[in-house]
Amino acid sequence: MAKLPVVCIVGRPNVGKSSLFNRILGRRAAVVSDREGVTRDRHYQTASYHGREFTVVDTGGFLPDDTVDVLAANVRDQIFAAIQEADLILFMVDSRVGITKLDDQFAKMIRKLDKQVLLVANKSELPEDRSESWEFFSLGMGQPRTISALTGYACLSLLDEVISLLPNKGVSSKEEEKRPIRFAILGRPNAGKSTLLNRLLGEERVVVSDIPGTTRDSIDCTFTADGEKFVVTDTAGLRKKAKVDDEVEIFSNMRSQESIRRSDLSLLVIDATLGISEQDFRIIQDIRQAGKGLIIILNKWDILPNKTEKSFDHIVKEMREREPQFEYIPTLSISAKEGQRVHRILQEIRSVYANCRRVIGRDRVAEVFADAIAKNPHPAHAGRLVKLTRACQIMVEPPVIDIETRNPEGVDESYKRYLLKTFFEAFHLNGAPLRLNFDRKL
Ligand code: GDP
Ligand code: GDP
Repeated sequence: MAKLPVVCIVGRPNVGKSSLFNRILGRRAAVVSDREGVTRDRHYQTASYHGREFTVVDTGGFLPDDTVDVLAANVRDQIFAAIQEADLILFMVDSRVGITKLDDQFAKMIRKLDKQVLLVANKSELPEDRSESWEFFSLGMGQPRTISALTGYACLSLLDEVISLLPNKGVSSKEEEKRPIRFAILGRPNAGKSTLLNRLLGEERVVVSDIPGTTRDSIDCTFTADGEKFVVTDTAGLRKKAKVDDEVEIFSNMRSQESIRRSDLSLLVIDATLGISEQDFRIIQDIRQAGKGLIIILNKWDILPNKTEKSFDHIVKEMREREPQFEYIPTLSISAKEGQRVHRILQEIRSVYANCRRVIGRDRVAEVFADAIAKNPHPAHAGRLVKLTRACQIMVEPPVIDIETRNPEGVDESYKRYLLKTFFEAFHLNGAPLRLNFDRKL
């Protein structure tokens, strides 16, 4: 395995290094992993952004808690050794505090190395703090990037810049383009999952290969269609013909959890003649919680009784009444057995995958948000105004939009749904598990 590029976060205690480290990794649980050749230390982690993998190092791990205004020689040596390896250094300072003696010491140490450095002025969630950041120019490291690791403000732009500066070690950009879309086929026994899988594999002129997954005897299946590679995760139970009817429920639950986790999105296959069940709702919850994409497949359309042109609309309407968010989950009626509309599935998979990864421009989010709250302001909560001050996308895969307010507890559930609806529609996020995060404004 080629060595990954290394990004080191450096700075005095309390500037927010571990907050940024966690922001890059923590909520991106799916992309965090330990890797060979990297010390198995919690301060070294593998991160991935837009398909680029890199190692992030939080050098705060070397700093004793009582570091006040000088660096002990041994600590300095350790940090120096860590940053020797770096391809990029994120040198963090605190916008609210300004330059301290320790910042100067760190700056001196970093300047001695001939490394790429981005100066990051953290704790800049307030405009007044951002406007003070000019003083950091004197550190001789160029323009400070004002961010807030706490609220996520400008963190995505910083990550964009980070990956644009990384050397092409590790994953080559060619490999990155070719990363296959991974999906799982889930649903109750007899919904038609195996039939659908066989149809997908058989219909497209495919090259099929089985690759063992991580769980014992789970098999991932790769195929190519229209020049694009897809992986169906955990197909062992689906390809084996002699299936145990109603596999022990618990086992299949664990199984579906595992395949959700290892996929970008899932197809939930429902027998349209039976309708959606409690178990299906549980699977939908699991998928949402895992932050993954979802497409609902209403199967056995060929034998749906008393079908009229309106049947599809009717079923979909019923589902939406029970669960408003169904409105944003693509739903297809198909016949796995006869092949009706099966070709639409791959098209939908591509589109949902793109939606899960969509980076919405900062201005666009701000504009749609301003419009939404102007049209329909948040109602008062316990006699007090609930002011939502700013919205900003802080993450992709899954997309998360952070909304600032002084009173996160006061935000009304139906108002959350209103904002979700607005964002889903404005940003084309169908099938993606968009989350809103209400952050306390300081
Ligand atoms: P480290 O010692 O450099 O790793 O700093 P930490 O990440 O532990 O952060 C130190 C303190 O600053 C914690 O109380 C954080 O919650 C707080 N903090 C971190 N980032 C921000 C930020 O962007 N804004 C504000 N207001 N506080 C932050
Ligand atoms: P699984 O348990 O979800 O993998 O379901 P299977 O693919 O084994 O299908 C269960 C039964 O439903 C089999 O008898 C299939 O032939 C039948 N079946 C699957 N898809 C369709 C369909 O689109 N139309 C009809 N009429 N039968 C189907």
